[in-house]
Amino acid sequence: MEFKYHIHIMTLFPDVVGDMLCESILGRAQERDIIRVDCHQIRDYTLNKQRQVDDYPYGGGHGAVMQADPLYQCWSHICETMGKRVHTIYLSPAGKVFKQADAKRLQADYDSLILVCGHYEGIDERFIEECVDEEISLGDFVLTGGEIPAMAVADAVCRLVPGVLSDPACFTDESHWDGLLEYPQYSRPEVWHDRRVPPILLSGHHANIAKWRRKQAIIRTRDRRPDMFETLDLSSKADKKLMKEIAEEESAGQQDTKE
Ligand code: SAM
Repeated sequence: MEFKYHIHIMTLFPDVVGDMLCESILGRAQERDIIRVDCHQIRDYTLNKQRQVDDYPYGGGHGAVMQADPLYQCWSHICETMGKRVHTIYLSPAGKVFKQADAKRLQADYDSLILVCGHYEGIDERFIEECVDEEISLGDFVLTGGEIPAMAVADAVCRLVPGVLSDPACFTDESHWDGLLEYPQYSRPEVWHDRRVPPILLSGHHANIAKWRRKQAIIRTRDRRPDMFETLDLSSKADKKLMKEIAEEESAGQQDTKE
């Protein structure tokens, strides 16, 4: 069966990962054969009775390191069944930090991925040298295993596959797609705990609503992510006008509080 996107996850916990990715939107996309996520138990590829996949680190030190061979056997099996070498990613705190742009790139450039989840102190470097194409980190912190990062990457990539979400606007309108954070969202009721939905959103005036949303997205990005704001292109006539309005509204607001 040909899927639009096929992700293989190499892990010591295939049930946990598989269950999680079979729920909700990605679950429905798998039922409709748009995408497929297969989880592979690395222990199934050991040659010892104990199904041991780790051993002590050469050079001393605490903990254990996942051995190269069970990883290699599992990886080779996947590549053989796919009939090709599959783009392989090792989830690692020493990798490049994952961004929406990476999700876009992985969805556009490949139709299948192998995600390798490490555990313990990590995995034997020789497997990385021989089989891994890139290392991706979920952020500057250390987790006990690569399963949560692998699920995050699989989810971020799969939701961009055509047909997984009902409309491409579902992701193009969102935070990080075009360098902005998303505007605030509201749903029913109109008043909750004495807090009103901004009246513009009830006006039915689509152009004004779009303008309000862009303004909120700009303000939010400026205040929460100055690093992103710095690289934003706000040179269009419409954005220049919005920036002027923001400055005027904020300076009027400051004067109000002084009086
Ligand atoms: N000794 C490793 C180091 O200092 O870089 C950390 C190993 S970590 C305890 C065990 C496994 O969790 C790693 O092999 C990796 O697969 C995964 N992991 C931990 N933190 C991660 C992160 N921030 N991003 C991606 N994977 C991570």
